Amino acid sequence: MSGQTAISLTTGGLVLGGAGVCTWAAVSPSSDLFGRAVRRAGSPRAIALTFDDGPNPAVTPALLDLLDRYRARATFFMIGRHARSSPDLVREVAARGHAIGNHTDTHPNLIWLSPARIEEQLARCQDAISAATKMAPRWMRPPYGFRGPQLARVLRRGGWAGMALWTRAMFDWKPQPPERMIGRMARVRGGEMLLMHDGDHRIQNSDRSHVLRSLEHWLPRWADDGFEFPTIDDLARPPLPAAAN
Ligand SMILES: [Zn+2]
Repeated sequence: MSGQTAISLTTGGLVLGGAGVCTWAAVSPSSDLFGRAVRRAGSPRAIALTFDDGPNPAVTPALLDLLDRYRARATFFMIGRHARSSPDLVREVAARGHAIGNHTDTHPNLIWLSPARIEEQLARCQDAISAATKMAPRWMRPPYGFRGPQLARVLRRGGWAGMALWTRAMFDWKPQPPERMIGRMARVRGGEMLLMHDGDHRIQNSDRSHVLRSLEHWLPRWADDGFEFPTIDDLARPPLPAAAN
């Protein structure tokens, strides 16, 4: 649970040489140019489930029950203003053994924000989560995955463990027939970190029933295949001895 492992966020003193490179680095979930990031599940026998933009009273409670049914743990990257309006739900997520990460207070695009504005966004979200759980997240995920070089500096200065991205987005941010998402999830492989949404950054009580239906389909199959579902804090622990992994 501690997630104490220090992850270096150094950018290696890079001189950025061209708008094309910068743009790619700022939006690509596989870029390390603007700070080290965790984006994989760590083991080919694991799938890391992550849920953004909640908590959502209309969806998160059912999602927690579903995850419990398959003994799956996940990481919830919460938005501060949603956390403030549902503190009991924030507490419940933590009490069920899931990890909570910081997804900023109001979900702005961080690329063009000053370090001070980014710090404020992170601090307000952190306050909302800490007020509910008495624990402070050590991981964050930038909204849309967008980030500039100033974010890495802010995280380094603030003693954050780092940022989490993903290997595969499930394109679940709009209501849709669950069959479509179930089909996309057939491509998921061991070792991936999945970006999903239990909430919507614009509104509360958003419809995410397609996310629930898709997981109802895939979680039992993945569990049968022997996959584990680590949280971001599990991934940040020191590597296990080879024999134990
Ligand atoms: Zn988001």
